[in-house]
Amino acid sequence: MRGRTAVLADPLLDRMLFSPDQILDRVEEVGAAITRDYDGRDLVLLTVLRGGIFFLADLARHIDLPLTMDFMAVSSYAGGGAAVRITKDLDDAIEGRHVLVVEDIIDTGLTLNYLLNVLRQRRPASLEVCTLLDKDARRIADLQVAYRGFRIPDRFVVGYGLDLGGRFRGMPFIATLRDEVMG
Ligand code: 5GP
Repeated sequence: MRGRTAVLADPLLDRMLFSPDQILDRVEEVGAAITRDYDGRDLVLLTVLRGGIFFLADLARHIDLPLTMDFMAVSSYAGGGAAVRITKDLDDAIEGRHVLVVEDIIDTGLTLNYLLNVLRQRRPASLEVCTLLDKDARRIADLQVAYRGFRIPDRFVVGYGLDLGGRFRGMPFIATLRDEVMG
């Protein structure tokens, strides 16, 4: 936690939910499970920019298999609704490949559900989801999550890729915000 005391003292933050060690221990376990399940398969880790890249980078180092990575970026349409616009598409085709979507957090699941439907049309050999954090009490979309780091309560969290208006992404731990911040 060297050099991070100033960040943790930020008045917007409530408390640390997962320390860097807790996160990495769990990432190691999830990586080992993926290594067992995908042995001998052509694995693509697919991540949605930008929050997922921290988890992806650590997870990939704990999967002891050959794999490739690809990235997408999405933005919600103004006015809400479940549809999202793909602002950056994958670089490579996924047809016939085993695709594992790596997410930082799943909340209602609406964004991811939309994305999975788009990806399914490209005929991957398999399509599964791995998320670090799961606010499953808030789920609206009917999603199967194959790998989950932690279940968390309905609180807004930041750090380890997760931001608030661009802030806090680089923190090595995950923290809750003070209730007053989210209103
Ligand atoms: P969903 O479509 O599952 O409701 O969530 C879409 C997106 O909302 C997530 O990918 C994430 O970007 C954002 N999100 C949901 N909950 C949180 C949270 O607690 N903290 C942060 N920083 N982003 C969140």
